[in-house]
Amino acid sequence: MERTLSIIKPDGVHRGLIGEVVNMLEQNDLNIVAMKMLYMTKPQAEGFYAVHRERPFFESLTDFMSSGPVVVMVLEGENVIARYRDLMGATNYKEAADGTIRQKFATDIEKNVVHGSDAPETASFEISYFFNRFEIIR
Ligand code: ATP
Ligand code: MG
Repeated sequence: MERTLSIIKPDGVHRGLIGEVVNMLEQNDLNIVAMKMLYMTKPQAEGFYAVHRERPFFESLTDFMSSGPVVVMVLEGENVIARYRDLMGATNYKEAADGTIRQKFATDIEKNVVHGSDAPETASFEISYFFNRFEIIR
């Protein structure tokens, strides 16, 4: 069993895509075991994306991620990190495969609707950034 963190980013929430994204998760057997809505401050977004601190897009990305509410979820299942990343599609929506969340809804390389952890270690850091163990269904 593996867990991953999913975020519906501010563009997704603002555009009314929470239901569409959650529906795609459910249809693809990505089991939601925790969920909440929150509005990150700039320092909270900077802490979340600390691994990207040296990247040229860090400033813009953390401004964007603290620009409106997001929905954070924990997904659980076998191989869920890779299965959810497959469903999200490529970071650049122009390269995202047909039927993926980003191919369907993203409008920009930065405003790409969803986030997903990329490895077990990052998943563990990212989940504990937003959820304590009493908030995750078991
Ligand atoms: P995420 O981490 O959000 O699930 P990802 O793993 O596909 O997406 P990363 O390389 O980790 O992509 O980048 C994190 C986020 O930073 C991207 O989702 C996107 O919002 C933004 N980003 C990545 N590359 C660029 C870029 N070249 N220009 C602007 N923003 C970018
Ligand atoms: Mg990433």
